Amino acid sequence: MKRVSGTLLDALLPPRCPVCRARIVEHGHLCGGCWSALEPIADPKCTRCSLPFAHESDGLVCGACHATPPDFDHAFTPVLYADKGRSLVLALKYGGLFAAAPAMARMMAGPVRAADRGGYDMLVPVPLHRFRLLSRRFNQSQLLAASLGRELGIPNQNFGLIRSKSTPSQGTLNRNKRIKNVRSAFSVSNSDAVLFQGKNILLVDDVLTTGATASACAKTLKKAGATSVDVAAFARVGQPVSG
Ligand SMILES: [Zn+2]
Ligand SMILES: [Zn+2]
Repeated sequence: MKRVSGTLLDALLPPRCPVCRARIVEHGHLCGGCWSALEPIADPKCTRCSLPFAHESDGLVCGACHATPPDFDHAFTPVLYADKGRSLVLALKYGGLFAAAPAMARMMAGPVRAADRGGYDMLVPVPLHRFRLLSRRFNQSQLLAASLGRELGIPNQNFGLIRSKSTPSQGTLNRNKRIKNVRSAFSVSNSDAVLFQGKNILLVDDVLTTGATASACAKTLKKAGATSVDVAAFARVGQPVSG
């Protein structure tokens, strides 16, 4: 309740930075300080999953993508999931600060445009299981996809791909356990497969951790007939999850 009333107040009061609450000129932006505190992901990085490399590397893909290639083709992630990047993701997901979505989507559009992969037919947000959606009441990936769609001029496809299995939290799992955890979590019904057949899809999520969730979605969409599936996520976890 406190969160909801806070969100309503935000719309009435003078605009503030969704991360640090500093006064800003316009709703839907970050203050200059928070903007510059985000850590952009630049080269060198994995060409498949966008994992930043600590040093110049001869390999084009990271060890994880080399060992178990993901089912998506390329991932685009503008910032590192650390400090301000993490604050922003949590503010959107748990703080209900919807005003952050347009600013985040503008940043997500950058690497997508730069890669110039030939255009997408649709944006597909990573779905929440319906029980999770009932308790959270919104899907943060859908909010980002709506803003990113306006930014790129690409329609959203919000139904068809469903999260049919409620999976336990991925928080403490390593990559292999995450892959097993979400392997059969997503589905497309036979009657909805036509939505995705022959389409070039940009899947949208808030955070890319190991890529297991995005890969499971891409596998399901390709099984339904999608030609290609790339991923746009606002933030990327930099270090492989241990344990
Ligand atoms: Zn700020
Ligand atoms: Zn990789």
